[in-house]
Amino acid sequence: MRVCASPRAGSGCVPEGDTVWLAGHNLRRALAGERLVRSDFRVPRYATTDLSGRKVLDVASRGKHLLWRLDDGLSLHTHFMMDGTWHLYRRGQRWRSPAFEARVVLETERWQAVGFRLPVLDLIATKREDEVVGHLGPDLLGDDWDADEATARLEARSGMAIGEALLDQTVMAGVGNVYRCELCFLRGLDPWTPVSEVPDRRGVIDLAKRLLELNRHSARHVTTGVDRPGRTHWVYGRQGMPCRRCGSAVRKPDQPSYGSERIVFWCPSCQPSQERKGAS
Ligand SMILES: [Zn+2]
Repeated sequence: MRVCASPRAGSGCVPEGDTVWLAGHNLRRALAGERLVRSDFRVPRYATTDLSGRKVLDVASRGKHLLWRLDDGLSLHTHFMMDGTWHLYRRGQRWRSPAFEARVVLETERWQAVGFRLPVLDLIATKREDEVVGHLGPDLLGDDWDADEATARLEARSGMAIGEALLDQTVMAGVGNVYRCELCFLRGLDPWTPVSEVPDRRGVIDLAKRLLELNRHSARHVTTGVDRPGRTHWVYGRQGMPCRRCGSAVRKPDQPSYGSERIVFWCPSCQPSQERKGAS
């Protein structure tokens, strides 16, 4: 079983909060209560670390962070960033990613969990998890989701562009670039609109929650309601193609302001800038 199918960078999809939630959900279902019989860290810092004998108590997701809680008071903390993933295999099953990309392998009697391309991999005391996830806003897929708190945190960033604020994990945890772009489209918002000028901020938060919930059992991030290849997104990854709603060419900036992995895609007609709105 491949529990977290976050495709490779450049394939049009990156891990979002729902991807990490699904990984945690499947890993927890298979491994909670199981004892590790072997561990293999392939990062220099933990090259000699051996977790065999530890029992897995829980695997929890928080935004794009995944925490393996072990019975000796340690947590293995990983972050997916743009391209990381965990796969779950039956022991002896062939891996679907190249071995040189594996950063850690955890084995029980029946299962092998492999973390590929994880840029963040730390062993920390479970009671100190707050130091790595405590800064995050409410988790869109967490049991303790709090829409009022997320709205208040969004509104506190009144001068920030909505497209940037949605990526800010201290506002709410779980929205990555796909959902950021799609949320702005679905709400008709120019991504550069200041938060203070977004008419229904709570509506944006509620829609983010709905989209992640709809997709949490799938490896894909469908926002159009059409789960077919090439039809899943309104604007994300569709620069130069006709907008599905109005036919205008979907755009992306000539000079991305958030780094190349964070390119914003938008439809200039469905998401008019404030100036153009005023002029029309
Ligand atoms: Zn359009």
